[in-house]
Amino acid sequence: MSDDRLLSGVGVSPGIAVGQAIVVQFELPDVPLRVVPAAKVGDEVARLREAVAAVRKHLEQLRRRTEERAGKEEAKIFDAQLLMLEDKEVLAAVERLIRDNQLSAERAYEFKALEVRAQWSRSTSKVVRDRVADLSGLQIWMLRRLLGLPLDVLFRAGSADGKPAIVFTRELTPGLTVQFEGEKVAGFASEEGTRTSHAAILARSLRIPCVMGLVGGLARLETGADVVLDGSRGTVLVDPSPAEVRDARAHERRRRALEKQLEKVVGQPATTLDGVTIALRGNLDLPEELDVTAQHGAEGIGLLRTEFLLVGRTEMPSEDEQARYFERVARRFHGHPVLVRSFDLGGDKFPAVFRSTHEGNPMLGWRAIRVCLDQPDMFRAQIRAALRARLHGNIQLMIPLVTQLDEIEQTRELIAESVRELDRAGVPSAKEMPIGVMVETPAAAVLAVELARRVDFLSVGSNDLTQYTLAVDRGNARLAGRFSPFHPAVVRMLKWVCDAGQGAGRDVSVCGEMASDPLAAFLLLGLGYRALSVSPPALPLVRWLIRQVDVVHARRAAEAALAAETTGDITRIMEAALSEHVNLRFLEAGRLPKARRSTTFRP
Ligand code: PEP
Ligand code: MG
Repeated sequence: MSDDRLLSGVGVSPGIAVGQAIVVQFELPDVPLRVVPAAKVGDEVARLREAVAAVRKHLEQLRRRTEERAGKEEAKIFDAQLLMLEDKEVLAAVERLIRDNQLSAERAYEFKALEVRAQWSRSTSKVVRDRVADLSGLQIWMLRRLLGLPLDVLFRAGSADGKPAIVFTRELTPGLTVQFEGEKVAGFASEEGTRTSHAAILARSLRIPCVMGLVGGLARLETGADVVLDGSRGTVLVDPSPAEVRDARAHERRRRALEKQLEKVVGQPATTLDGVTIALRGNLDLPEELDVTAQHGAEGIGLLRTEFLLVGRTEMPSEDEQARYFERVARRFHGHPVLVRSFDLGGDKFPAVFRSTHEGNPMLGWRAIRVCLDQPDMFRAQIRAALRARLHGNIQLMIPLVTQLDEIEQTRELIAESVRELDRAGVPSAKEMPIGVMVETPAAAVLAVELARRVDFLSVGSNDLTQYTLAVDRGNARLAGRFSPFHPAVVRMLKWVCDAGQGAGRDVSVCGEMASDPLAAFLLLGLGYRALSVSPPALPLVRWLIRQVDVVHARRAAEAALAAETTGDITRIMEAALSEHVNLRFLEAGRLPKARRSTTFRP
């Protein structure tokens, strides 16, 4: 296969689509420079407000359409855009631009839009970058309205000869995903985007294969080209031969067969052939994923990310809002642990009140537990919310990026203070809170014995542990090949942490992305882990995998892996061992897109 026919990105919604490309230009429209006479600035402000109202109506329509096609929870995706649309700070700034510079409403809006977009795109926070496409979609609608262009375009897909269409665009926005006539679109592909973007979530809900991050892809594609899109591998093959199309279809048949098997295991226990039961939990990034996580039989939430509560906000979410969310999750998984991770904020993350001055190296900067301890009011509000929600389920608190033992002591003090405050105020709440740490720095891994003595549980954040151990930026696509939790240094740390935690009688789990990968999950079982927390779409596959293997065999393979010296050797050892239980080709067909490895596509 000649390489230049194969475009590589990241698969965000599994499945193979064979069809004809249609390239859609859904971009910010050109806005002419127009100044208005001083007497007319009031009219421009009125036009701005009219556009906000019209776009609100349009988004509400899209929300209804999504509810019909994908479901109630998915429809809430548009709430994020509605919030951004009404952002008081942004609208006030646009109004000032109109009044102070006599700019037309569209010119002023474009000016502010570009500024906000650049700020969001540069953010080191994945959660913020995940929402850039929502922002772009909204800005496009606003500018179209202000320029008098129609909003209610229903894109017609499908070629004249009836071949399914594969839609290519620079950036896939949530609105775009649901604005095509359903049946005719077989796949989506975009140059930019992230696996956890709203458009990706929608594509998965609609079961439409999707690839994002095809850098430079649009320049190499024309409407009408025959393509094979593989949403699991994250590739697009242009101009495939008949044999390649046959292969792709056979691969898709295997994937569907595996999917059928996976459906059967949903209600079954995650127990290995030799009778070892694994606690299989879900990682919840967004409330929209709550239903699917429960439907896939997660036994609790091993990582409740809370950063989405901050995206696009100028203020912190209130204690009440957080308590309501935690309570909702706790009730849904009643009896099972729900590990609320305290805000994992980065140096330049929103909201603006906490935005720090520029940091040369934000990944090593003012982040996570460091921010929480330096901003105790913010941290206490989150702790109080967790204590209140704990009355309704098994809420526990998990702290990220720990490097020092005293970070635990300080957190405990804040918990004790919060219990007293709530008591004094007569607010019904729990009187204690189990706490655990995420082991995601080499410092925490080396100190695992000491940490385990001080906390109730450990959970390995293998994404960051790999990043900090190997000094490889997890978001840098160029380094994706060097980022591997199968590196001997990471594997040996994983073993050390598991032994340390279990030696102290603590629950030890892995909630990093490796737990969602069948081969890595097999390694983790062999290293001794008995609790895994995985991304919601991976729950059936990992449950199925657990039921195909035995721990004795996994342990033998892991011992060989611990003695190995290279990433390649460890991968080969584990593959050889796993292939005795399952057909790796079959497994490959069902492998989910890699999630958090190379999610930064912007140059
Ligand atoms: C991790 O680092 O492995 C982890 C689970 O946390 P996050 O991906 O949110 O940084
Ligand atoms: Mg992390």
